[in-house]
Amino acid sequence: MIKLENLYKSFGDIDVLKGINLEVEKGKTAVVIGPSGSGKTTLLRCLNLLEIPNQGAITIGEKELQFQSGTKLKPTQMTLFRQQTGMVFQSYNLFPHLTVVENIMEGQVVVLKRSKTDAKKRSLDLLAKVGLSDRAEMYPHQLSGGQQQRVGIARAMAMDPKVLLFDEPTSALDPELVGEVLKVMKDLAEEGMTMVVVTHEMEFARDVADQVIFMDQGVIAEKGTPEEIFTLSTNPRTQQFLNKVA
Ligand code: ATP
Repeated sequence: MIKLENLYKSFGDIDVLKGINLEVEKGKTAVVIGPSGSGKTTLLRCLNLLEIPNQGAITIGEKELQFQSGTKLKPTQMTLFRQQTGMVFQSYNLFPHLTVVENIMEGQVVVLKRSKTDAKKRSLDLLAKVGLSDRAEMYPHQLSGGQQQRVGIARAMAMDPKVLLFDEPTSALDPELVGEVLKVMKDLAEEGMTMVVVTHEMEFARDVADQVIFMDQGVIAEKGTPEEIFTLSTNPRTQQFLNKVA
């Protein structure tokens, strides 16, 4: 479903991604861990073209894009590629002047050109899935951070992406609200959504990941099953990191 080949990304003189190779199969969850500044967010942002890689190739589903310095992508090509992914950010950025259900409808109506009736039906189904049916007509400020993030997940799902990308989705939340968001993500993983999750929640990685990717200084230092990374790894960089976060 997702394939990254020899992906490079730099910002000016700073080389942030230095030859990333990665595959995520359909229906699987890859959890990306690693120290601050190792390039996790940049990797995720390259997957939906919020950053344009300098070199390498990205395949999602049937679509492959090749990058070389100076590659200029056509806007339509970027839009089509981007529509394959849904992104859930650390800050949920819901529209404050729209109700919860309207927030989930917006992209469906504007981008996918769905009728309001269809978009509303889909939104209400998704709100039920994230356990927020009773909040449909409320405004974002009337919801807790955890509830807003669950709306953020429903909003991403509403666009029918092939892949969901999560960039530290619980880092902005009070600790007691983290669990409800991780539970929704776990449910999605179990239902067979293809997901790439950047997180510092090691329990989630251990519990839900099919594949754990340990990034360090712009490369994938190690990848494997949770057991291979958390229990069996003999890689000193992995161990040093895990000792720090444990
Ligand atoms: P964290 O866990 O702290 O979020 P990360 O592993 O996600 O870190 P990135 O956010 O991908 O790391 O950043 C990797 C490096 O790239 C950092 O040194 C950062 O300063 C740099 N970087 C990221 N985005 C930009 C940008 N737009 N311009 C310049 N440098 C950037």
